[in-house]
Amino acid sequence: MTLLALEGCDVFYGKAQALHRVSLGIEPGEVVSLIGRNGAGKSTILKTMIGLNRATGGRRLWKGGDVTALRPDQLGRLGIAYVPEDRRIFSNLSVDENLRIATVMGRKGGWNAARVHKLFPVLRERASQPGDTLSGGEQQMLAIARGLLTNPEVLLLDEPTEGLAPLIVDQLVEAMRLINAEGMALLLVEQNLRVPMKLAHRQYVIDHGAIRWTGTTADLQANRDDIEKLISL
Ligand code: ATP
Repeated sequence: MTLLALEGCDVFYGKAQALHRVSLGIEPGEVVSLIGRNGAGKSTILKTMIGLNRATGGRRLWKGGDVTALRPDQLGRLGIAYVPEDRRIFSNLSVDENLRIATVMGRKGGWNAARVHKLFPVLRERASQPGDTLSGGEQQMLAIARGLLTNPEVLLLDEPTEGLAPLIVDQLVEAMRLINAEGMALLLVEQNLRVPMKLAHRQYVIDHGAIRWTGTTADLQANRDDIEKLISL
């Protein structure tokens, strides 16, 4: 059964329509990418899934049930975690304190401090440092770790590799692969094909607030030139 889905969603910012009849879904254990250029509507889709944006038309579904009216905190308790583009690390709290908040706020489950430290050893090394002393890559690791500690069934990740050095991107890709291998569904927003091609099972291409193309990663490879055109600036 589809874990999380949007069905025919329209979203407006004031009078400007940001999403047009968007329908998409993610299955348990799947990695799905939303790809598109700057301003295409990708973040708006994630925010609609976690309840930060209200759709004027359409529905949000969780395991087939209608959860359109639920707030972000209620959706979080169902098992949806969101790692925003700006990461929202508490800059004056230590790495450990950032993690502890997620543990306290989250659901019970198999993800604990020891497990996120194993995944991202640097978070143990930097446990007592303030959040704002971490590099961009380390902050992203902390943001993902915090999401995991809420023990969700699906993790929504907004441009987790944006602006990071290739070596760090490779580390994050490996970590996301491991997280998925342990059963977590991932919905990943990216502006280019690099990470989605390595990681995702299925892809959606977004442009001007609508889904322009969807298919498997093999389909994407076969249509790569056309899709590059859809997402190029
Ligand atoms: P980015 O890569 O920049 O995050 P995106 O594909 O995620 O791009 P969105 O952030 O979803 O795109 O933006 C979609 C459209 O909605 C853009 O035209 C953007 O300017 C507009 N928009 C986004 N947030 C707001 C807001 N809070 N108020 C008004 N317009 C907004």
